Amino acid sequence: MQGVAVFGSTGSIGQSALDLIGLHPEHFRAEVLTAHRQVEPMLRDCKRFKPRWVVMTDTNAAQTLQMRLREHPWGAQINVLTGPEGLVTAAVVPEVDMMIAGIVGAAGLPSVLAAARAGKRILLANKEALVMAGPLMVQAARLGGAVVLPVDSEHNAIFQCLGENYRCFQPPAGVRRLLLTASGGPFRSWERGRMFSASVGEAIAHPNWSMGRKISVDSATMMNKGLELIEAHWLFALPESAIEVVVHPQSVVHSMVEFDDGSTLAQLGSPDMRTPIACAMSWPARIHAPVKPLDWRSAQRLDFEPPDTERFPSLALARASLRTGGGAPAVLNAANEIAVEAFLNERIRFGEIFGTVESTLTQLSQQAANTPSSVDELLEIDRQAREIAQAHVAKIAG
Ligand code: NAD
Ligand code: MG
Repeated sequence: MQGVAVFGSTGSIGQSALDLIGLHPEHFRAEVLTAHRQVEPMLRDCKRFKPRWVVMTDTNAAQTLQMRLREHPWGAQINVLTGPEGLVTAAVVPEVDMMIAGIVGAAGLPSVLAAARAGKRILLANKEALVMAGPLMVQAARLGGAVVLPVDSEHNAIFQCLGENYRCFQPPAGVRRLLLTASGGPFRSWERGRMFSASVGEAIAHPNWSMGRKISVDSATMMNKGLELIEAHWLFALPESAIEVVVHPQSVVHSMVEFDDGSTLAQLGSPDMRTPIACAMSWPARIHAPVKPLDWRSAQRLDFEPPDTERFPSLALARASLRTGGGAPAVLNAANEIAVEAFLNERIRFGEIFGTVESTLTQLSQQAANTPSSVDELLEIDRQAREIAQAHVAKIAG
C-alpha cells in the first residue's frame, strides 16, 4: 500500500490521479489533497477519499473547508493546512510515499523541492518547477534519494522507450536524439493574422487533450513544447541540440527516442493522461487504466511535419534560454506565466504573448546569465521577470 499526496487535486491532472487511486484501493491511499481555493470539489473528494491532510493555499477557502468538514463525523479526522507553507509541510508527512506534482506554475516549486529532499517518489506533471529550477531539483533529488518519474505524456513516453533500468537525470546510453511530438495546438494551420487576435475560447479549445487553462494556452502558443524541451533537457541530461520537436497532429505517438544504431522507438496510446500517470504510479509494474484502446481495425493515419518556427517563436525562445543557461529558463517561465494570465484576463491579445516573453528575456539578459545557487536567488530572478513582464503588459494594455 502506497500513501499518495495529490498536489493540485482539483485540477485536470489531480482528478485523473484520483480516478486511478479510486480504481486501485488495494495499492494506493490518498493521504494528502491540495488545491488553491475550490472548496466544493475538495469537499466532495474529502468525502470520497478521507485524506489525513488537506491544504487549501487560500486562507479563506481553508477556513470555509474547515467549517464544512466539521459538519460530518468523518471530517474530524482531516487536518486542514493553509498557505504556501502548508504545501511544504504536507509534502514531507511520513504517511506519503509518492507525490503527484499536479500544481500549475511556479507555485508548485517549493513543495516539489521539499518532497525531493525528503526522498519521496515524485510523479512530475508540474513542468514549470523543473524549467525554473532544473539544477536545484536535480541536486535535491540526488541528496534526498528521491526518484523522479515523468508524467508529462512526452517525457513519460521517452522514459518508457529508455527501458526499465533507466533513471532520470542520467544521460541515457546509446541515444542520438529525443523526438518530442507536438500536436501543434488549435492554431496549427491558422494564418498568422487570424491567430494574432484569437479569442480565449479559441485558444483553450485543444483538438486532442482536455487540460487546465494555462497549459491549454501554452499548447496554442507552442510554449508548452518550449517548456517541455527544457524539461527534457533536465530529465534526460541531454543537450538542447539533441532534442528535436516534431509536429504530429493526431497525438497518438507521444514521443520517440532515436538510438545510435538507427533504431527509433516510440510510445503510442490514446491522448489520455491516465496512461502516463498509471505508468508512473505503478512503475516498473503495470496497472489497469480505463483508457480507450487505439482502434487498429479501421484505417488510421499518423502524420508528422516540422514545426513552423516563424508563426510559433516559442521554440526558439526556449532554445535560446537553455543556451544562455543560468536563470534564463526561469525568466522565460515567469514572463510566460504573466503573459498567459494577461491573455486569459483579456488584457493582451494572443499574439502579444510572444513579445511579452521575448522583451522580458532581452531586458533581463545580463542578470539571467548568472546561475542561481539557492532557491532565494532563483525566486529573486523570478520576481524581477514577473515585474518586467507585468510592466510590458501594462504598456500594451494601456
Ligand atoms: P489545472 O489548472 O487543471 O489544475 C491546477 C491545480 O493547481 C488545481 O488543483 C489548483 O487548485 C492548483 N493551483 C493553482 N494555482 C495554485 C497556487 N497558486 N497554489 C497552489 N495550488 C494552485 O492544471 P492541469 O492542467 O492539471 O496542470 C497541472 C500541471 O500539470 C501543469 O504544470 C501542467 O503543465 C502539467 N501537465 C498537465 C497536463 C494535462 O493534461 N492537464 C499534461 C501534462 C502536464
Ligand atoms: Mg506534454
